[in-house]
Amino acid sequence: MNEHSQPMDLEEARDALFAQLVPHSASECISLTQAQGRIAAEAVRAQLPLPPFPASAMDGYALRQQDTSNHETFRVVGQSLAGHPYLGSIHAGECARIFTGAVVPDGADLIVLQEQVAELTTDQNGEKNVRFMPHEADEDYIRPVGNDVELGQQMTQPGDRLSPLLLGALAAAGVSELNVYQRPKVGIFSSGDELRNPGTPPEALALGQIYDSNSFTLASLLRHLPIDLITLDRLPDDPDAVEEALAEASRRCDMLITSGGVSVGDADFIGATIARLGELSFWRLNLKPGKPLAFGNIGDCWVFGLPGNPVSTIVTCLLLVMPSLHVLCGTVPKPLLRIPATLASPVSHHPGRAEYQRGIYSQNASSGSGLSVKHTGDQGSNRLSTFSGANCLIEIPEDSGDLAVGAGVNILLLSDLLT
Ligand code: AMP
Ligand code: MG
Repeated sequence: MNEHSQPMDLEEARDALFAQLVPHSASECISLTQAQGRIAAEAVRAQLPLPPFPASAMDGYALRQQDTSNHETFRVVGQSLAGHPYLGSIHAGECARIFTGAVVPDGADLIVLQEQVAELTTDQNGEKNVRFMPHEADEDYIRPVGNDVELGQQMTQPGDRLSPLLLGALAAAGVSELNVYQRPKVGIFSSGDELRNPGTPPEALALGQIYDSNSFTLASLLRHLPIDLITLDRLPDDPDAVEEALAEASRRCDMLITSGGVSVGDADFIGATIARLGELSFWRLNLKPGKPLAFGNIGDCWVFGLPGNPVSTIVTCLLLVMPSLHVLCGTVPKPLLRIPATLASPVSHHPGRAEYQRGIYSQNASSGSGLSVKHTGDQGSNRLSTFSGANCLIEIPEDSGDLAVGAGVNILLLSDLLT
């Protein structure tokens, strides 16, 4: 076993993970409609400029700027609606009725807003003439070709996550398919003889048995990532069976995530099995919750052995596994966003390990500026209820003692960690 004898700090562990993990490099071409959440594997370029034609930014009348000083009224020679351009040209003393997004006809170089109309008349031949109020035009209200995006402009680079906003921009720029990285295969195992499937009637649970919530939580936390998620059979508390199952799954998956059985109890075999079948990079963190956490590889498959207590499983998944998966999927993980807040409830903490308590932040009620945060009660790592109502993790530094109301802390937003 490659023993990392000193427990690692969170940032140290994240750096070690990001340095080791090798992104998936195989790519596939998919349609834009399938691309949400996937990772671009190429630099996609705009297929046309945006707008592709000079477009009106407002509803009004398109005419020649030079005519505004020497014409009282303008003859309305046609109209240009979005998708229905006026195909003629605008000559001296003429204008075209125009609407937002419509093509500005040839010859016109100014849109006079419809709010500036003083009088609109129709003569006996049905011809319309318009007179404008005297005014200084602020701008021409014409969006030139390429004003938003130029032809051939780079829209993505390899590693970009395809968000709804980026997908919209690609659709607008005429892109209908693109190369993305293939989805890594990620297998989830729970471990422990005490676990039963959710859905088993409570009266069918023998004494000492509990529901396997971790598989369910992990799958739910990871489902939005561009991975192929495989929920695997549970690992029993039997070293031979654990070895066989991990060896077999490691041949099918790019990453395995186990929960439970990673501590130093009599029934904890995960770390030793990773070491026997492959290599264990580290197995302890200076983190609460989440002290026992094994990471290594079995052949080409990365393996995370997460602690079994449900809160520890979630916190380590958020802080370590999800960012690692971002790397594996081909994108750059975001640095942790730490936001200063003021404690609204006292925190008890023994110096030694950095702790991530579940908290609820809100706008600072007294001063109206900044955030205040309170924890969600007893922070036992078995207590999934500490997540109820929580919207952040409160980071208590490792060397901190108890903290009083009013003390400054950093918080990590769950909305940020969950993406
Ligand atoms: P372990 O690390 O296996 O000793 O597990 C620590 C605690 O977490 C024990 O109370 C286990 O029963 C519990 N636990 C382990 N795995 C799960 C799971 N998949 N779902 C819910 N609780 C679990
Ligand atoms: Mg166990």
